[in-house]
Amino acid sequence: MNSPTSAAELRCRRCRRPISSDPEIALDIFEGMHWLCFHLEFEHGDDPDRACSDATCPWRRIEFLENALRGLGKDPKTVMEQAVANYYRGLVSRNRNGP
Ligand SMILES: [Zn+2]
Ligand SMILES: [Zn+2]
Repeated sequence: MNSPTSAAELRCRRCRRPISSDPEIALDIFEGMHWLCFHLEFEHGDDPDRACSDATCPWRRIEFLENALRGLGKDPKTVMEQAVANYYRGLVSRNRNGP
């Protein structure tokens, strides 16, 4: 490998946290940042809590999924509440049963 930086030591230029997911891509394409940090720094609009016009924006993708659920006759809020409840039930049962 001819990586300019050890992937294991790569830290994001924006948030300074380690980059463990695709460090080579982070270096080559995202200027040494997490993809999300790159998006927020260069592509996203002013308010990070709102969707921007980029179709890959995480907020926009949530909106796409919510619209798809509505198209299937499901209420996105109810689906999310069920998913969160299932997630916590799973955590509790894993903690009860040990690692
Ligand atoms: Zn980052
Ligand atoms: Zn965005």
